[in-house]
This record gives sequence, C-alpha cells and structure tokens, in this order.
Amino acid sequence: MPKPGRHGSREPDGRRKGTRVKRISHWIGGKVVPGASGRSGPVWDPATGERQAEVDLASAAEVDRAVAVAADAFPAWRATSLSRRAEIMFRAREIISAHGEEIAALVSAEHGKVPSDALGEVSRGLENVEYASGIPNLLKGGYSEQAATGLDVHSVRQPLGVVAGVTPFNFPAMVPMWMLANALACGNTFVLKPSERDPSASMFLAELLKRAGLPDGCFNVLHGDRTAVERILEHPGVAAVSFVGSTPVARHVYEAGTRNGKRVQALGGAKNHMLVLPDADLDLAADAAVSAAYGSAGERCMAISVVLAMDAVADDLVARIRDRIPGIAVGAAGEPGSEMGPLITAEHRDRVAGYLAGAADEGATLVVDGREDVPSAGFFLKPSLIDHVKPGMRCYDEEIFGPVLTVVRIGDYTEGLRLIDDNPYGNGAAIFTRDGGAARRFEFDVQAGMVGVNVPIPTPVSYYSFGGWKASLFGDQHIYGPEGVNFYTRTKVVTSRWPDPATSSVDLGFPRTR
Ligand code: NAD
Repeated sequence: MPKPGRHGSREPDGRRKGTRVKRISHWIGGKVVPGASGRSGPVWDPATGERQAEVDLASAAEVDRAVAVAADAFPAWRATSLSRRAEIMFRAREIISAHGEEIAALVSAEHGKVPSDALGEVSRGLENVEYASGIPNLLKGGYSEQAATGLDVHSVRQPLGVVAGVTPFNFPAMVPMWMLANALACGNTFVLKPSERDPSASMFLAELLKRAGLPDGCFNVLHGDRTAVERILEHPGVAAVSFVGSTPVARHVYEAGTRNGKRVQALGGAKNHMLVLPDADLDLAADAAVSAAYGSAGERCMAISVVLAMDAVADDLVARIRDRIPGIAVGAAGEPGSEMGPLITAEHRDRVAGYLAGAADEGATLVVDGREDVPSAGFFLKPSLIDHVKPGMRCYDEEIFGPVLTVVRIGDYTEGLRLIDDNPYGNGAAIFTRDGGAARRFEFDVQAGMVGVNVPIPTPVSYYSFGGWKASLFGDQHIYGPEGVNFYTRTKVVTSRWPDPATSSVDLGFPRTR
C-alpha cells in the first residue's frame, strides 16, 4: 500500500506527483454547476491517506443562487398533486434501490466504511423514501362538521418553502435521505449542504432523484464549509434548517437559525451507555457491545461508547469483550473480509488516539490498545478497550467518535441509571437483561430519546422518529417519520360557513360555538 508523505513521489497534500484529482462541484437546477468561489477542499481516501478529489466550497453568493433556484421551483412543486409526488417517491425508491451498491461504493471510497456497513446505511436511508411514498395519507388533515351550527372546520398541512439540510460525514447517504424524502414529499424544495469530507453520495442521489422525475431545482446540492452554513442560517429565503452533526455546531445552528426566524431541528453528538445487568446473557451482551462499539470504526452517533458493568459480572464481561477484539478484521473497504475501516481523517484518528494515550495517567486501565500494529498507510486505528473508567476522565466526559469502548464498573442499577441521567448527552441508551420488569423500569426511567432493550443501537424505523434528548438535539421535533412530516409542514385551520344571506345580521359579540 502507498505510504503518503514518506516517498518523494508525492506532493505535500498526499496526491501522487504530477496527477490531477477529480473535482466535485455543486448540483443546482438539475445539473452539475462548477464552483465559482475559488475555494476548494480535499476529499481523502481514508484507506490510503491519498487525496482522491477536490470539492468546491461555496461562497455566500453561491448559496444565494442555489436558494433562488429552489425558490423558483417551489410554486410549481407545491402545486404538484399528491399522487404525482408519491409516484416520484415510489420511483426514487426503486431507482435508489437498484443503484444501492453504487451508492455504497461511493460511501466506502470517501468515508472508508466497509461494504456491508455502507449497504446497511443505504437501506436504512431508503426506508425514509419508502415512508415518504405514503405522503397522500401522511398529509391528511382533520375535518369537523357542524363545529358550531352551520359551521365546519378543517385543517391542512402545507409546505414551508425552501428548506435546507446540513449533514455530517458519518452517514453521507442515510442522513441526507432522512431529510430529503419527507421534505420533498411534503412539497418543499431543498438545498442540501453535505459534509465536505464525503460529498459524492449526495451528488449521485441528486442524479437519481432527477431520473425518478423530480423537476429540476427541487433538490440542490451545495458543497461547502462554515461559510456556506452561515449564509444558509441568515438567508431570509430559507424557511427551515435540519442539521445533524456535532453538539457545538448543532447548538450554534439552532441559536443562529432560530434568531433569524427559521424553524430548526439540530441533532448533535452522543455518549451512548449500555447497562448490563448481572442476569444478562454475557456472551450476547459482549457480542452486542463489540458490534455496536466498533462497527463503522465507532463513527456512529448511536455507537455504544460506555458499558456500565455491575461489579458482580464486570471481570467476566470485560474478558469476553477483550477476547472478541482480535477477531475483528481491520482493513480497507476494498479488502475482502474487512469488518472495520479507517477513520475519516488523519487529524480525527490522532484525536481519538489521544484518549488512549491519556487513559492510564487518569487512572483507567488500557486493556486493548488499538494503536498497536495498525496498517502503515491510511487513517487506521484498531479497536480499543479501556476499563475502570470514571466520570471526570476525558475518555468518559467527551464524545470520542472512534473505535474506543470504555467500561465503567457500577454497584447497582441506580448507580448506572444516575450516570446515564447525569450525562449531558441523551441520544441512545440500552439495557441488557433477561428480567422484563427491570427492562420496563429502565424504559420508564431513563433520560434518553431512543432506548434499546437487548438492542445496542436502537435507531428507530422510518415510521417512528429519530432524536435524542438533552445536548443530543436542539429543537422540539425529532427527525424523519411523523415528526419529520410535522417539521416540514405548517398547519392551516379553515373555518367555513355557507349561510343563507337572508339570515345575516350584524353581531359584535365574540362568536360562540354553543
Ligand atoms: P460536524 O459538526 O463537524 O459537521 C457537520 C456539518 O456541519 C458539516 O456539513 C460541516 O460542514 C458543518 N460544519 C462544521 N463546522 C461548522 C461550523 N463551525 N459552523 C457551521 N457549520 C459547520 O460533524 P461531523 O464531524 O461531520 O459529524 C460527526 C458528529 O455528528 C458527531 O458528533 C456525531 O455524534 C454527530 N452525529 C449525530 C447524529 C444524530 O443523529 N444525533 C447523527 C450522525 C452524526
């Protein structure tokens, strides 16, 4: 494998000397539009460390142009019949499904996740297109006949206008589909600002939506960084913003967007705990912890980050987790048999490795050190396990977002529950037990938006909604599912009467219904 930076055959940016890299441009008005800002950013191949593409980074003026195109497309799209919108979503579902492997390959190439993981992401994203295909039913309002004598009331749900989505690097296909399916089906037009680290999947999705019959201008992809996001947040023509990413940025997006009068849902980071009761099947719990901690190299907002192990079973559970780690095949997505790929960038890999370096000094035990024996090229870090972790240690207090599982030993259920509740994040939480009563109590008690019972990654299906509590979500609507439809529409209530003009008279009293 090539070793970037070690040979004279490379430019300082990792590119082979004399080679040109692919350029990734915007998608506006149904076609590829080259960036005009003069700014671009690198797209790395995380498995080799090479720069594989250059992505255009939009200026504020380019945001304005994309929003203007989406605004022009809005009146006709919102007037398009529900059955036609549903038909386009059905077709999109078929076309995206038929090209699932190609989307997954783009995800693997830029994100680094292995094919089974990338295909899983496409499939979970597609569920949302499937859900949005039922839009005629989802947008049904209510009707009350004879609310007062001769007076009827009904409600309708109408789209907001131009809505924007800002998405993270870790699910470059699924998270855009969480947003675009419901937003478009509800009659909005959309500007997506995907992560600049892995921008190609969203470009391919744009092309597939066009092939499905979506009119030009309804779905636009604008690549960029903070500059583009700031303009989206202040643009008066953007009615709502869906954001998924880290908590500091989510908080900023929520505050700036709402200050500018926009509807905002901003999903942030996580620190998901898995509470293992002594009666749990420890092999099952160890399998679940390993799968949910190291899948996608731990770069999932629903990854298990902390195992809360009761003292009575902690030694046994830690041993079972440790014994499973050497069996995980770490390698490039293209290598047959790889189960876990690299991290997204060299900086992120080094940041994650920093938690391992500091763990022993803080009093924890580094049981498996993933810095040992890593492939020399690319941004790899192997699965790591830290035991005897406590609140106050950096590896407990901060979101790591890498293949590092920490174990906190606890005396009883109440202590475990308190740790989860005291955590600033509240995305997912899981309990492993054979005791139905304990599981029900956990479900009732726990301060988290998504709860798993013997399920380590309880990502809701598309007909429920996804969202955490506390610093894992800013705003009051969860993303996708029924709350997604609420988010992308506003309700209008119509009160009507068809009186006989002969009975009409002036009455200055406040109208009563009785
Ligand atoms: P990030 O916050 O760095 O970036 C997310 C998006 O915001 C990107 O499109 C990026 O270009 C943009 N951005 C980055 N910095 C910005 C700034 N200062 N101002 C405005 N925009 C900015 O997140 P990431 O590293 O791409 O993704 C990983 C994070 O996302 C993790 O914290 C993870 O937990 C979180 N995440 C949460 C969920 C969820 O559903 N709650 C899902 C996936 C990922």
